[in-house]
Amino acid sequence: MSYNPSEIEKKWQQKWSEEGAFEPLEDKSLEKKYILSMFPFPSGRLHMGHVRNYSIGDAMARYYRKQNYNVLHPIGFDAFGMPAENAAIKHGRHPKEWTYSNIDYMRKELSALGLSFSETREFATCDELYTKWEQEFIIKMYEEKLLYRESTTVNWCEDCHTVLANEQVEEGCCWRCDNPVELKEMPGYYLDIRKYADELLEDLKLLEGKWPSQVLAMQSNWIGKSQGLEFGFKFTEASLTKLGSKYDGFSVFTTRPDTVYGVTYTALAPEHPIVKELIKNGLLDGEVAQKITAIGNMTEVERAKAGKEGYDLGISVIHPLTGEEIPVWTANFVLASYGGGAVMSVPTHDERDFEFATKYNLPLKYVIEGGEEGTAYTGEGKLINSGELDGTPNVEAKSAVIKLFEEKGLGTGTTNYKLRNWGVSRQRYWGAPIPFVHCDDCGLVPEKVENLPIALPEDVEITGEGNPLEKHP
Ligand SMILES: [Zn+2]
Ligand SMILES: [Zn+2]
Repeated sequence: MSYNPSEIEKKWQQKWSEEGAFEPLEDKSLEKKYILSMFPFPSGRLHMGHVRNYSIGDAMARYYRKQNYNVLHPIGFDAFGMPAENAAIKHGRHPKEWTYSNIDYMRKELSALGLSFSETREFATCDELYTKWEQEFIIKMYEEKLLYRESTTVNWCEDCHTVLANEQVEEGCCWRCDNPVELKEMPGYYLDIRKYADELLEDLKLLEGKWPSQVLAMQSNWIGKSQGLEFGFKFTEASLTKLGSKYDGFSVFTTRPDTVYGVTYTALAPEHPIVKELIKNGLLDGEVAQKITAIGNMTEVERAKAGKEGYDLGISVIHPLTGEEIPVWTANFVLASYGGGAVMSVPTHDERDFEFATKYNLPLKYVIEGGEEGTAYTGEGKLINSGELDGTPNVEAKSAVIKLFEEKGLGTGTTNYKLRNWGVSRQRYWGAPIPFVHCDDCGLVPEKVENLPIALPEDVEITGEGNPLEKHP
């Protein structure tokens, strides 16, 4: 007898379906097993990657059924998102119709493969029932202060008409379409994932020896926790007069409080409010102002790749411990998103500050013993030129300086993270609507849970240009 797959497999697949062979049983006495494979995007066609993925889960599900487990092995479709919306626009169809017709087709393909999914538990993430739960979670997260709305500078892809996370910007370009990314000020909803930074960091220890150490190092750098000192620099009288009464100074964050006596200049991010104020009031040379604005419009990645560039802002601050006058610069390596967009610079003990100081001929002052003249010394040693702290090993001096600032009421010890909160707004149509209304009087008001789901209106024209809901009556 020859094996004719289209005959034999069809026969058994039909029998499985009729008998509900892959449905979980309503039998509480059996031991349960929930086997879930990653959902496919309903792009229209399965490919060999899907076959590989779903064969693994299928083999496990069949194995456990034979072991007399009560197995739930469902399938679903990860159906919202821009790829689906863009594909629908390209084919001149509504994303909903496009998505569900793809799902119908893919379901047939999956079952022709003989995969043992439950037929009664299937769903798509664009189903209204799913949206209902998603929106309830969003409201719960808002109530727990894990979700908030804020206007920030975001990475914007003009081609996709959407905001991108830093992780989605590759070499200054959009990960999806390779279009250069620009910066834009825009309100959006954010998940406060930084609340979990310490927990994430702490739990990496549980993976030591189990995960590759480079992966653990990458994770910990991504969180980027640093302990340091936050303190204020006050403007000199002359600078105060120049700036008017709007600002009396700015605060900086440093992870090297031990080098605070070695500060010879400070630097603000090009998009810092004080820099904007100077530009607005015509206090900077026109050409310089243009160049600073241009740096402010570059993405963080582009700026990191560019050479050090900066401009003297023509104002100065007073060193809080020594009373020395310190010039204020703006520099492309200072990012608005980190430490408030202002840094103290110690060229003698920091490579980056040294490179900048050398380029612009700024003064050097050594405060840790052991270095060579004319180089940045980043090793350990005893403090010099540091007032009452002279002779203290620099590692110990970190906490001593924090204590000194706190005692004098000049600053506080703080923790900073590189980890950014996660933006969940996408400014496009095909996604779960965020269930809030904006009221002029009460601000953000969540929808009542009993009114969920807030479904997407379907009578909209979807062009891919901006948010179609804005044009919806
Ligand atoms: Zn793009
Ligand atoms: Zn109201």
